[in-house]
Amino acid sequence: MLALQGDWAAHERALAAHGVGAVEVRTAADLDGVAGLVLPGGESTTMLRLMEGTELVPRILALVRRRAPMLATCAGVILLAREVRRPAQACLGALDVAVERNAYGRQLDSSVAELEVVDHASLPGDRIEGVFIRAPRIVACGAGVEVLARRGADPVLVRQDAILAATFHPELSHASPVLDLFVRALGNGR
Ligand code: GLN
Repeated sequence: MLALQGDWAAHERALAAHGVGAVEVRTAADLDGVAGLVLPGGESTTMLRLMEGTELVPRILALVRRRAPMLATCAGVILLAREVRRPAQACLGALDVAVERNAYGRQLDSSVAELEVVDHASLPGDRIEGVFIRAPRIVACGAGVEVLARRGADPVLVRQDAILAATFHPELSHASPVLDLFVRALGNGR
């Protein structure tokens, strides 16, 4: 659990409800031995600043390379993206998507939306709830990125290898199937 800033504690509670314990990661050494990583929502600019001058970025990229299960939500998606637009911002380039920050406009800064399930093998039912808080919009996806759920035309839950990325906040929905999916990927779901 990247715990530099943002709503990592809500993720920690949601994972605890699934019987999964989390290590709060603030330094590169905290990543020793983790089974996976959550990159929570918050402010991506602040998180980037807090990672500067530490070994966190190369260590996170090493986890991506060895396909450790990751859950990125909202600002976490912005951190992992290959390109951030409006405004342009540095990013780790681990997830082959381009995102626009705060893309849903003022009236939709924060909203709860019904999302259309696209990947029925991964998610139950036809609809899931998505809590959006000053969310980014995924504006382009590379060929290796699967879309699991959409909001209208926009991909809002995607997967690339072991990275699950949601522009919304599954940790704020009761019993989100997105958390179930992540926990299954961690191998703790049974
Ligand atoms: N708007 C935030 C950012 O650009 C993301 C918001 C969130 O994580 N809820 O980093």
